[in-house]
Amino acid sequence: MTHESGGFDLGRWSAAFAVEDSSQPTTPLDLYGAHDARALYDETYENYKSFVNPPLARVMKLSGSPVEVRALGSTIWDHNGKAYLDFAGGYGVFTLGHSHPRVVAAVREQLERMSLSGKTMFSPLLGRLARALADLAPGDCSISFFANSGTEAVEGALKLARAATGRTKFVATTNAYHGKTVGALAVSGRDAYKTPFGPLLGDIVHVPYGDAAVLPDALRDAAAFIVEPVQGEGGIIVPPLGYLRAARAACDASGAILIVDEVQTGLGRCGMLFGCDRDGVVPDVLVLAKGLSGGVVPIGAFVTRPSVWNAAYAKQPLVHTSTFGGNPLACAAALAALAVLHDEDLVANARARGEQLLAGVRAIAADYPSVVREARGLGLLVGMELQSEGYAGTIVPEMLRGGVTAAWTLNAQRVIRLEPPLVVTAEEIERGLAAVRGAVATAFAKLGVLVETSSTHT
Ligand code: PMP
Repeated sequence: MTHESGGFDLGRWSAAFAVEDSSQPTTPLDLYGAHDARALYDETYENYKSFVNPPLARVMKLSGSPVEVRALGSTIWDHNGKAYLDFAGGYGVFTLGHSHPRVVAAVREQLERMSLSGKTMFSPLLGRLARALADLAPGDCSISFFANSGTEAVEGALKLARAATGRTKFVATTNAYHGKTVGALAVSGRDAYKTPFGPLLGDIVHVPYGDAAVLPDALRDAAAFIVEPVQGEGGIIVPPLGYLRAARAACDASGAILIVDEVQTGLGRCGMLFGCDRDGVVPDVLVLAKGLSGGVVPIGAFVTRPSVWNAAYAKQPLVHTSTFGGNPLACAAALAALAVLHDEDLVANARARGEQLLAGVRAIAADYPSVVREARGLGLLVGMELQSEGYAGTIVPEMLRGGVTAAWTLNAQRVIRLEPPLVVTAEEIERGLAAVRGAVATAFAKLGVLVETSSTHT
């Protein structure tokens, strides 16, 4: 089964979610009851500074962050009514853009019926969503567990692997990002996020990302190998073709579970349905979140083979649970989101627009080699690695001033991610590229040549 355009029948899920696709924002400016734009900004900044995260509030203010008030499609409006193309894309959440009308309508309809599960009865939408994911996921990955975020889904996958194998060791990759709860953090790669919290989970080995030769040895007696098809927060690192295939073979040889973390790469982001389709690999556990519910209600999930699920939980069905995981609102959103992904042919659009975006960033890199070291990516997951982290502090705010959001990656602050919604148009890509070019030119004019030592690209 090919997953590039969906070797499954999403069309049959879509019929239930057909609504008129007509809404455009009539009043983009909404001040949430504040008497003017300045008052909304001041109130929000003061709240962040006093009650949310004081140091972060100051950094956001310095970098010129406005207050977001409304969003639709690829556009976010701030408190002044200024429109921004969203090239940060919620770090991969907004595959369908913001507030897709079909997803919003499905959630609104469910809200009137029943928003959260009573937990003592079967939930029809949870069943339908699990079935839709079984159709969609590679091979016989057909049993879904639902959580509320990426990191929770990763925790579930790690627990599943230990319970299914009776082993404890996890193998993960250097510079990985799997989330910030204790287990997911332990298999992640950035020390700055980990050291204040140790000891984290024990029995973890990190291997260089993209190096298949080390896997057979490292995986001996392991419960699982957890890996991203493209490292997102690690700096948009695309491994050599065949890496996941080698990982599959090494897991088969050692009896380890292959956990593919597609929280950021899954559901069309990379110009194919799943990142693991690039190698035609069937994981034992596929982890999803971010775009799964179309950017309207949070959700996370892992999808696994029946043999793995049964090895872990056949006799203990309540040993891993979540109160809110797979709630009816999230499931309604996800079913509608999968229908939109199919009906709007967004996987193909991600591939075409991704090529356009990457070619454009490569042209900027060629024109400003002292500022941009490399442009790389897969589909609409594109990274621009700077020669020095020092440029990022100018480029991101400059892009914002130019009406385009962007962000650096969490483990590699020298890499700026460009991750627009999969609904992005060719014209929007050109506008985004113009903002990148303008920001790079300004950074070069302001800062000249900055020197840095090493590359994030291993
Ligand atoms: N895995 C990957 C690959 C991610 O990119 C992220 C988030 N950037 C996570 C897990 C964690 O997801 P969340 O922030 O929803 O917990």
